[in-house]
Amino acid sequence: MAKDLYEVLGVEKTATDDEIKKAFRRKARQLHPDVNKAEDAEDQFKELNEAYDVLSDANKRAQYDRFGTIPGAAGSGPQYVDFDDIFGGGFGMGDLFSSFFGGGGSQNAQARREGRDMGVGLRLTLEEVAAGVKKEIVYDRLAPCPDCKGTGLGPDGKEVTCPECHGQGRVVTVQRTFLGDMQTATTCPRCHGTGRTIENPCPECEGQGRVPDRQRLTVEVPVGIRDGQQLRLTGFGEAGMQGTRSGDLIVTCRIKPHEYFQRDGDNLHTRVNVSIVQAALGAEIEVDGIFEDERVQVRIPEGCQNEQVVRTRGYGMPRFKSDARGDLFTHVNVVVPKKLSKRERELLEALATEMGEDVAPERKPFQKIKDAFN
Ligand SMILES: [Zn+2]
Ligand SMILES: [Zn+2]
Repeated sequence: MAKDLYEVLGVEKTATDDEIKKAFRRKARQLHPDVNKAEDAEDQFKELNEAYDVLSDANKRAQYDRFGTIPGAAGSGPQYVDFDDIFGGGFGMGDLFSSFFGGGGSQNAQARREGRDMGVGLRLTLEEVAAGVKKEIVYDRLAPCPDCKGTGLGPDGKEVTCPECHGQGRVVTVQRTFLGDMQTATTCPRCHGTGRTIENPCPECEGQGRVPDRQRLTVEVPVGIRDGQQLRLTGFGEAGMQGTRSGDLIVTCRIKPHEYFQRDGDNLHTRVNVSIVQAALGAEIEVDGIFEDERVQVRIPEGCQNEQVVRTRGYGMPRFKSDARGDLFTHVNVVVPKKLSKRERELLEALATEMGEDVAPERKPFQKIKDAFN
């Protein structure tokens, strides 16, 4: 049985949006892998995220209060970060942890103070690419702390020289070995190498200047974007520590396969069935275009062969950030009728006679049954 979402966040049912947000941050911090070594920390983190997902959205929360279930499990609402899309699967919660908390650790301290770039995938339909679209994306990041505006300073806070390293940014430890004293200099753990620490840090972010937050962004996807093309949103990646530079958010566009159309650059390919008569005599037929309600006149030439491709200029995809369009290529599939009316058979037999071709005589119904048993 699913847990009560309010209990997961540890708030009352009457909690305000701000209380919910703060409770989420507090709990997310408790589950930080550096702090929490419990085996189920990742599961708890996931549960926390799911609860926050519902309770931070006014519509979902109202629905949950009313029906006691989690609304919009799949397919509805905004598009969520789809890490599998860009990293080819295997993106575990451990990685989500580090993207959320800015983990890692191999980089030097100075670089780690700045926010990292983040990546999200955005799935689009071909119709959306043709018309251009605004999409809401939702993702978790370390955002500038709203209480201290990213400075990390509390109400009476100030920056002081680090008492641990006396402003050097490095601490030297001496180890006695049989070869003599060995000195090792390491980055100061207290100030992360900056030589400065904060007195009376902001209680909300504990002096970090950034807090875990759920970000909702509306992205305008330009017309004609290609599969795999990326949009860079400056400053929307991980926030830097104590007001240092934020990373960017890189949105990788992924275009879903289409039921009727195949895209080849700015051109579109589609298939159409025509009868043997239309193929022989030529025809003007209508096919669906990529835009809603668009109908395209395709001219099937006289004597058209099966698999022949007919080009209709100007009915392909719109070119990137442009009004011009590529071409539509219609692949013709000539369909031979499986059943003929009496009249149709007579006409075709007359045609066979005219063309001097031998054809099989019409089989009587009982012969057809006999054939079926052979
Ligand atoms: Zn703060
Ligand atoms: Zn220090």
